[in-house]
Amino acid sequence: MSTTTPRETSSRTDTSSLNPDALGHVDTAVENRSEKDMINISKEATESLKSKVKGQIVLPSDSNYDEVREIWNAMIERRPALIVRCAAADDVPPAISFACENGLEISIRGAGHNIAGNALSDNGVMIDFSTMRNVRVDAEKKRAYVEPGATLADFDEAAQSHGLATPVGINSTTGIAGLTLGGGFGWLTRKYGMTVDNLISVDVVTADGKQLRASENENADLFWAIRGGGGNFGVVTQFEFNLHGVGPEILAGLIVFPFDQAKQVLTQYREFVESAPEELNVWALLRKAPPLPFLPVDVHGKEVVVLVTFYIGDAAQGRKLIEPLLRFGTPHGEHIGAQPYTQWQKAFDPLLTPGARNYWKSHNFTELSDGALNSMIEFAGKLPSPQCEIFIGLIAGAANRVPADAMAYRHRDAKFVLNVHGRWDERTDDERCIAWARAFFQASAPYASDGAYVNFMTEEESDRVSAAYGANYDRLAQIKKQYDPDNLFHLNQNIKPSPRGLIGDRGLREQRQMISRR
Ligand SMILES: Cc1cc2nc3c(=O)[nH]c(=O)nc-3n(C[C@H](O)[C@H](O)[C@H](O)COP(=O)(O)OP(=O)(O)OC[C@H]3O[C@@H](n4cnc5c(N)ncnc54)[C@H](O)[C@@H]3O)c2cc1C
Repeated sequence: MSTTTPRETSSRTDTSSLNPDALGHVDTAVENRSEKDMINISKEATESLKSKVKGQIVLPSDSNYDEVREIWNAMIERRPALIVRCAAADDVPPAISFACENGLEISIRGAGHNIAGNALSDNGVMIDFSTMRNVRVDAEKKRAYVEPGATLADFDEAAQSHGLATPVGINSTTGIAGLTLGGGFGWLTRKYGMTVDNLISVDVVTADGKQLRASENENADLFWAIRGGGGNFGVVTQFEFNLHGVGPEILAGLIVFPFDQAKQVLTQYREFVESAPEELNVWALLRKAPPLPFLPVDVHGKEVVVLVTFYIGDAAQGRKLIEPLLRFGTPHGEHIGAQPYTQWQKAFDPLLTPGARNYWKSHNFTELSDGALNSMIEFAGKLPSPQCEIFIGLIAGAANRVPADAMAYRHRDAKFVLNVHGRWDERTDDERCIAWARAFFQASAPYASDGAYVNFMTEEESDRVSAAYGANYDRLAQIKKQYDPDNLFHLNQNIKPSPRGLIGDRGLREQRQMISRR
């Protein structure tokens, strides 16, 4: 492990090299050079780093460079100067020191799914966990110890081998790390809360290179901030989760209705979920029908409304509960059955493969008003590509019973999360598809609650960060100042360290003025 911490480094080198705004200038200069000249790291420095880490160092000249830097959203195209493929937690402090010594930005990659693409930076150091995916389960204690490169599939498979699970997302190739640090929700959230509600502890490397444990009892302020504060507070090298008995079989599937029945289906859906037990989850999806074998061929490619159902518990009881949904309209078809939880967790993977171009927008809702439903139906009627969709995730339940100030993630009034999922293949469709997502986002905004889910925010939405944390922002800025005063970890939905004890909007305003005067 390196003994050089970033702050020690900063006292020996130009401190502006640690300032993100200064780094912004470095980037611009670098972009203007030819690709051949882009990387300006000495061979000695690289060799020295190699001698300090167990993992692999990947450079742009290496044959696996393009494969290693690939992330889920193909719209993000950036070329790090160097990638540290960590093999152990001890690889992180030298990677941080190296970045500081060479004046390079740090990005962190869990499984690379983030829509904003913050796992990658041009000419920075990427701390990559894609080879640290181990999940250890203590079935007796109902605990999982998870490395930061693990995907949801890695986690679900390990936990389900003991009949256990915790709420995570709905696409199995998503990373546990990014998902958890932003909040995390999925099919089990109604019953067992957000992913962060099930986090027991983390091992984290902070900006000064220290390896700490954070939990309710140890470094409690850091633990408070990490549960929702994203990658702002340090590099997490292990997550410890609480687990619940789930499955291994659950009852789940789809009911697909004609689009012209959208209003009646969604209105009844809204009423139904008000009183549905928390073991039952139902999400609504508006999109063009994929070529699913249980649908008539002439429905393929047409707009449809889908109710996606999920029930943990006795299958016969689940069928009874789900049965009224079939009468919300005249379905084109339905496909619901008992199946392994791990299989259901992969059900949407074929629609969410990496390599497409993606642009998302998101709102939280405390209720689905008529206005909200009308705008969803209007924009689902003009989908700009066959892959674009609007989904309403139901999260009402256990997550609403946690106080808003219990941790950084604060959307405890949110009952539904809306994702406007713009997705297409060709660069030439960028403008059209992005315009659709933005227009729908604007049209549905009046019906949304305040706040935003950081995990669904694009890079350009940094102005929504303080809204995302609301009343929790000031405390986060203070904790950021304590653990990362130079904002070393800024490639994220960034929380700025409180300048000179000033906090909140006023503090941020003054910080911006200070920076612009430099
Ligand atoms: C297809 C798809 C489906 C999704 N479905 C859901 C869903 O059902 N529910 C839900 O809640 N979210 C969902 N998401 C959003 C998802 O939670 C975020 O995209 C999340 O950031 C992905 O985590 P990752 O580790 O794969 O991302 P990465 O891009 O690897 O990381 C994202 C950011 O997290 C931070 N980070 C990652 N690892 C670490 C670490 N070890 N230490 C410190 N910081 C770190 C960094 O700031 C990094 O930029 C989905 C995303 C996609 C693309």
